[in-house]
Amino acid sequence: MGRFNAWVVDKAATGQSLTFGTLDDSDLMDGDVTVRVTHSTVNYKDGLAMTGRSPVVRRFPMIPGIDFSGVVETSTHPDYAPGDAVILTGWGVGETHLGGYAERARVRGDWLVPLPEGLSGAEAMAIGTAGYTAMLSLMALEHHGARPGDGPALVTGASGGVGSVAVALLARAGWHVIAATGRGEEADYLSGLGAAECLDRAELSQPGKPLAKERWAAAVDVVGSHTLANVLAATKAGGAVAACGLAQGMDLPSSVAPFILRGVSLLGINSVTTPLPKRRAAWDRLARDLDRTALAAMTTTVPLAEVDRLAEAILAGGVRGRTVVTVP
Ligand code: NDP
Repeated sequence: MGRFNAWVVDKAATGQSLTFGTLDDSDLMDGDVTVRVTHSTVNYKDGLAMTGRSPVVRRFPMIPGIDFSGVVETSTHPDYAPGDAVILTGWGVGETHLGGYAERARVRGDWLVPLPEGLSGAEAMAIGTAGYTAMLSLMALEHHGARPGDGPALVTGASGGVGSVAVALLARAGWHVIAATGRGEEADYLSGLGAAECLDRAELSQPGKPLAKERWAAAVDVVGSHTLANVLAATKAGGAVAACGLAQGMDLPSSVAPFILRGVSLLGINSVTTPLPKRRAAWDRLARDLDRTALAAMTTTVPLAEVDRLAEAILAGGVRGRTVVTVP
């Protein structure tokens, strides 16, 4: 106990500042579990928090980092004891509650998930919020009744974090995966994860018709805006689209045509406040089903002290796959 290193976002006269410094336990916020953080990750939202590009940080000073894995140091929560390995994603951590870009975190035990058997702390953060969201998307499609025999599954933003894990999970589940990407040079990478075809994202990013030729039975969309509208327009009758992101924009310039003329369903994915039973089910399935070779192929590592250099890069769509942050 005592002092620990952390990144801190604060309000400055010129906007927002981001500094790496030393904090004290007394700086931590209320919570019944204190965790020694071993790994965190870089998600799109972390890029927004570190740069201040969107107002995702709503408490200052803030330690960014919307997810982490680590080991419980102290706990008064009935489900957790010192030495337990845990994962945290969501619940406003890194936005309204001090986050994971730190050697120590204090959170509510109700927010934690025990690290599933067979998964290391590093692998859990190679998956991170992005991979967990990809699994929630697959589960939503399956819950809808979508099956690989219905036709191909499209993944947009395929070279990014959510997209890479979604490609691997859908391929593993037996789907013919079409990976939409703006990075044609990543075709080998995407086929290595299990994509059967690549599609130039430019085909989807401009304003399109309310209905288009039916091309896929299911989709995981991380892009939003015109891309999501075009994805819906080309979804087969009875198909479903899991919408989880806004990399192109928050708007949805679509029409009701895909819904009322083809019975297409739009499934919303919110990873932040998913109830614990579903959260545990998703993590257990990730531990069981996500191919470890594919996970390793999509993962790079950065030390905590250097995570700031990825803030702009992830917002510019320049980070491939997933990035694990190692915490000393
Ligand atoms: P990444 O930056 O890793 O991936 C996003 C990918 O989208 C990029 O790699 C790029 O893929 C593509 N992309 C970027 N900009 C554009 C654009 N202007 N037009 C079309 N495609 C674009 O981010 P994450 O995977 O971490 O997150 C993806 C999205 O999902 C974000 O919007 C994030 O906020 C959201 N999200 C939502 C969650 C939820 O709970 N609903 C949880 C986690 C993430 P390529 O180069 O292959 O085209």
